[in-house]
Amino acid sequence: MLGEIYEKLLSVYGSQGWWPVTPEGQAKPEYTGGPANFSHRFEVAVGAILTQNTAWKNASRAIENLNRAGLLSPNAIRAAGLPELAETIRPAGYFNQKAERLKRLAFYLSAKTNPTREALLALNGIGPETADSIMLYGYGEPYFVIDAYTRRIFSRVGLVKGDEPYDEIRLMFERGLPRSAELYQEFHALIVEHAKRHCRPREPLCPACSIVQCCDYKQDRE
Ligand code: SF4
Repeated sequence: MLGEIYEKLLSVYGSQGWWPVTPEGQAKPEYTGGPANFSHRFEVAVGAILTQNTAWKNASRAIENLNRAGLLSPNAIRAAGLPELAETIRPAGYFNQKAERLKRLAFYLSAKTNPTREALLALNGIGPETADSIMLYGYGEPYFVIDAYTRRIFSRVGLVKGDEPYDEIRLMFERGLPRSAELYQEFHALIVEHAKRHCRPREPLCPACSIVQCCDYKQDRE
């Protein structure tokens, strides 16, 4: 079932090019297929914190500010004053809290070329969704990212209740799919796209949905 849903979403929306990173010589992150070097991996980790509790467009504006201020590197964030850093990332919201989180992240990633999920989770302010986003999109480790979009779609489809603990749903995906970081990256991005375009919180667009045949929610209402 998971594989079938993935194939249908991919055929409708195509490859999503996640995670957005800043191309050479530019300031704004773009969907170019994910990180290609250490700087990009660090940028993914920064973006995963900046997008906590806010839309990506706000996190993206904060990344643009960091790029323009020359602050998008572990050394620069470590050296920056907390008020300066917070002001730079203001568009992302919760900027004082997120500035402290970026500091902790920068100190950790400066010392580690290969971070672990457990160590990220031990950092104050990094929960499983953020840690898995960093591990999957930044470092190519096969952890399936679970977010509110995933819970909404797959509770409607009927594969989860939706309120299970994070790791229970993550393991359901990881056990039901081939172990592949590339697959998990694409699938999560497609889930986000589908949640925005069709499986909306209210009045989902079921008649036009590519996975309607797999979904209990639509069938419940026929
Ligand atoms: S059929 Fe409706 S509820 Fe089910 S996944 Fe599609 S849009 Fe969401």
